[in-house]
Amino acid sequence: MTGAGRYAPSPSGDLHLGNLRTALLAWLFARSTSRAFVLRIEDLDRVRQGAEERQIADLRAIGLDWDDPIVRQSERLDRYARAVASLQERGLTYECFCTRREIADAASAPHAPPGAYPGTCHELSEADRERLRLQRASALRLRADMSEFAVQDVFVGRYVGVVDDFVLVRGDGTPAYNLAVVVDDGEQGIDQVVRGDDLLSSAPRQAYLAGLLGIAAPTYVHVPLALNDRGERLAKRDGAVTLDDLQSQGVSTGAAYALITQSLGLPALPPSDLVAVFDPAALPRTPWTFHPPRP
Ligand code: GLU
Repeated sequence: MTGAGRYAPSPSGDLHLGNLRTALLAWLFARSTSRAFVLRIEDLDRVRQGAEERQIADLRAIGLDWDDPIVRQSERLDRYARAVASLQERGLTYECFCTRREIADAASAPHAPPGAYPGTCHELSEADRERLRLQRASALRLRADMSEFAVQDVFVGRYVGVVDDFVLVRGDGTPAYNLAVVVDDGEQGIDQVVRGDDLLSSAPRQAYLAGLLGIAAPTYVHVPLALNDRGERLAKRDGAVTLDDLQSQGVSTGAAYALITQSLGLPALPPSDLVAVFDPAALPRTPWTFHPPRP
């Protein structure tokens, strides 16, 4: 097998049909290209009791499998620390003492690209830092030497997005999402990242950081999300959207799975039987509007 794909849920709640659809796509992209497929639990924040077990059960229930072991980010803190140390040694980090409020106010200044850190703490003197350390916890930011970076996406094509001095380690010491994802994808040999297109704007930051850490950027496939009938991103509050909810409305897991495959223009066959007929070029390029059954 060459390379690997992955599904990397945050155990913050149950997976809804849109999440399961993205997981199925990630699995199909990986397995149809003879890649390994790994499940990584991104449990550095927003962990809800029991969610990981229910997510794993639901992924199994729709017929997905993965290569051992399941990796949990909370068990890999030493890896993130090593990556941060290597960036620190090269002078590629700095401490940031800004509050969210300060960043929001400064970012509305006309010169900062939307969503970019305005660079407030970039040039602090050591004396400033010593004074501020006594007052506030500091986050650690990347000292990026560019403001945008291009990635190649199978669906989107060339995508150029903002790279700013993004956070590597949060004020409470937790490794930030962008750092953990890049370190893990690199160490797990992930060369194909299939995920929801809400994360497309993170890809340039992640690909740029990967380069700094000597990791090749993966092939990206950002897939359209599932929406509710008001055109908003599907969420738990939209009614019966998980396998469990649907079951209690009389919709079996098999029938729920068939809604997913139908939305992808695929026959309602188990994932292992879809590999042979899976054609990325034939997938829909627009979001899937999901109408939960009403009781
Ligand atoms: N853990 C992230 C999420 O559930 C996904 C991260 C990724 O696929 O890069 O939104």
